[in-house]
Amino acid sequence: MNQLTETSIGCPYCGEAIDVLIDPADLGQQYIEDCQVCCKPINFFVSESAGGELTVAVYSDDEAF
Ligand SMILES: [Zn+2]
Repeated sequence: MNQLTETSIGCPYCGEAIDVLIDPADLGQQYIEDCQVCCKPINFFVSESAGGELTVAVYSDDEAF
């Protein structure tokens, strides 16, 4: 499978729902994208669910890994 998956996340800063595209190539990766609403840097972590679907967890910069 090599398709981008669209999902929506909640911004950890402003709580707005944002649609994001997850690239399977990013599995296990962490990256930062600015919120489209409040422009703060959201940390994304891409992982795979038990069912094989891509999921993304989001963290604010205040929350350490
Ligand atoms: Zn935001």
